[in-house]
Amino acid sequence: KKLGVALLGLGDYATKQLGPALKKTGNARLAGIITGSADKVPTWQKEYEIPDGSVYDYQTLEKIADNKDIDIVYVVTPTALHAEYAIRALEAGKHVICEKPMAPTPEDCARMIKTAADKSRTLQIGYRLHWDPFHLKLMEAIKTKEFGEWKSIDVSDAGRMNDFTRHNAWRVDKELGIAGALYDLGVYCVQAALYSAQEHPLKVTAKSWTEREKEFSEVPEHWEWELEFSGGRKAKGFASYGKNGNHVKVEAEKGLIQIEPAYGYGGQKGSTPAGAMDFQHVFQQQLQIEGQVEAILSGKPSKVPGEMGQRDIEVIRGIMEAAESGKAHEFGKFAY
Ligand code: NAD
Repeated sequence: KKLGVALLGLGDYATKQLGPALKKTGNARLAGIITGSADKVPTWQKEYEIPDGSVYDYQTLEKIADNKDIDIVYVVTPTALHAEYAIRALEAGKHVICEKPMAPTPEDCARMIKTAADKSRTLQIGYRLHWDPFHLKLMEAIKTKEFGEWKSIDVSDAGRMNDFTRHNAWRVDKELGIAGALYDLGVYCVQAALYSAQEHPLKVTAKSWTEREKEFSEVPEHWEWELEFSGGRKAKGFASYGKNGNHVKVEAEKGLIQIEPAYGYGGQKGSTPAGAMDFQHVFQQQLQIEGQVEAILSGKPSKVPGEMGQRDIEVIRGIMEAAESGKAHEFGKFAY
């Protein structure tokens, strides 16, 4: 039997990536929708054969508790709304997959994690690159020290935004997008830095700045930071809606491991000191959801649990604090 997934928030990512992925997943299918836009309902019902009884809006979400066809709610709204919807879905007894970045603060993440534990449900983050062969190769090479210890890391995820309407509006809104590119794109940099370092950062220095003051009146346009790890080793990071950048570069004892472009849904190119990475294109979101459903079915730990999402938000908040104070922010002990 395939587990039933309900998508909550039918924006760009749900429409273009997650819906199509759920047509391919072997252990899951799209069984329901939760949306505030009644006009989107007929198209989705037709495309995915969703019965009337499995269509909800944000007011009727609690009723999903009685729907036996839906096992998982996949939260795909703007960042600031993830916690509320994830918690309501968990309280209704559903497992939750929550898009990145997990939530505005570590405290929000902790509430989500606690609700999942109280309800004995699984809470996972939509970190699709944990199923991408290029990133898996990078993680494995570092873990096995195939090219020796890492010496320095450089990560960048940035793209110049020129249209500030539609689904970009919330991204530059402080209430919904929190800190702009640092959350939306920087979370990939934090992820890549941490799975390249394979350890927690000790401290961070950072700065943020804005060139286009009118468009970026609420959140900074550019973010730059430097995480410090054991032995004084550094990971430089850059996230921006004003410039471009898309790489992870890890200098190891035996040479460079790199992926560039790194963060797209495909099109990765990478190399190690042993030569070019030669992998077939995969449908990341299909493999991700299959892997996440497998974790639910098997009861084995997820590769991308809520705790990992919380850890990343702790790092992001540290970057924000360092940028605001102009001083190094020292991290406490991470729980995950
Ligand atoms: P989007 O703006 O296209 O979609 C957001 C959806 O949320 C819309 O359908 C919108 O109607 C709905 N929504 C509900 N309440 C809202 C409110 N109060 N204000 C605004 N919108 C509201 O954005 P998107 O690109 O689909 O991103 C949605 C989520 O998916 C974000 O968390 C984003 O970070 C994540 N995302 C992840 C990836 C990835 O590669 N994993 C890629 C893109 C987006």
